[in-house]
Amino acid sequence: MSITVTFARAKSYDRDELRAALKKVFSPQLEASGGVSGRSVLLKPNLLAWKHPNDPTCVNPAFIVETARLFVEAGASRVAVMENPAVRSAPAILEDMGIAEELRQMGVEFANFADYRDCRLPESAVFKNAELAAERLDFDFVADLAKVKTHGMMTLTLAVKNLFGFISGGERLAWHLKVRRDFALFADFLLDLYLEVKPRFNFLDGVIAMEGNGPGSGTPVFCGFVAGSSDALALDAATAPLLGVDDLLTVTRGKERGLLCDFACTGDIPRLQPLVRPDPPGLISQWGLDLPPGLREIMRNRLLARPELDASKCVGCGLCARMCPPQSLKIVDGKPKFKLTECIRCCCCQEHCPRGAIRFRTNRFLRAIEALRVLLSELLR
Ligand code: SF4
Ligand code: SF4
Repeated sequence: MSITVTFARAKSYDRDELRAALKKVFSPQLEASGGVSGRSVLLKPNLLAWKHPNDPTCVNPAFIVETARLFVEAGASRVAVMENPAVRSAPAILEDMGIAEELRQMGVEFANFADYRDCRLPESAVFKNAELAAERLDFDFVADLAKVKTHGMMTLTLAVKNLFGFISGGERLAWHLKVRRDFALFADFLLDLYLEVKPRFNFLDGVIAMEGNGPGSGTPVFCGFVAGSSDALALDAATAPLLGVDDLLTVTRGKERGLLCDFACTGDIPRLQPLVRPDPPGLISQWGLDLPPGLREIMRNRLLARPELDASKCVGCGLCARMCPPQSLKIVDGKPKFKLTECIRCCCCQEHCPRGAIRFRTNRFLRAIEALRVLLSELLR
């Protein structure tokens, strides 16, 4: 059976325009689900921290409200918004966004995930167990609300990557440690979550996306679209190439594992400039040349993009050190100091820095190679 991926244009977060666009991507999903009347729906948005209006680190508040409204109007018996952001709680972020009262008035609940239970992952999984938010089991459907953002480790955060938020904060650090710099293994873990959570509704907020130093400190970029599908992996596979990413690891591994179903794109498919990528992990690093393990480790340490501090932005809050899974980052004299030989390049420090003081940089040689690669892929398009 072919899955539909639907695109619609939205020039802004103006409520009327956004609602019309979201309806277009919602209708095929509603039909595919058999309807939500009398059923319960859990919305899982990507929430990081809300620093200013239209902050591209999060799914936009208008997007959250209008998606929730679609389910309410379609007759869902219960609609809830839940997430477990690393620093502030989901209710606190929704208050910061100024939509908590509006959600209450619509009868939409919101809360932090709190009930984590060990879960056996499906038979086809690479990993067998994970501790996941059990609240999802109280609902008939999960709706995945993802933001279009670049991501230092995975290149892009789209619908499949957003499911990492079902893992508890402490476990997230442990998973980064477990997969270390094997990004394909991390992609496999995300795919295992996708198989387990099976979000029946999936939406992408690509009105104002993020490029560059994502997922926490990138640059807003207007892309002007929303997209949706009843299959998260198909949605990512259809969207990533439009953003200039033909090699998204979750999609590559999904294909290799036979998980990517046939899909067809409909609606107003956007023509976009490729997003500015974060400094790449590198052509010659993880999934490029097949080097002997010892040499690969040396190359990784020398060539992988590495976290760097912009001391002028750093206020010495220490959050980056607390979020560092292997504790390779310490605060010394009020500023972070990186021990790069122990750094697993998970981007947690960069993602959570409230001041955007950490960015990932690679050396000039690799930047030149990457620029050449982008140029060649453009010419060969
Ligand atoms: S989280 Fe950012 S501002 Fe805080 S100490 Fe680390 S680099 Fe500095
Ligand atoms: S220094 Fe940053 S990128 Fe390196 S392991 Fe720690 S949190 Fe991850």
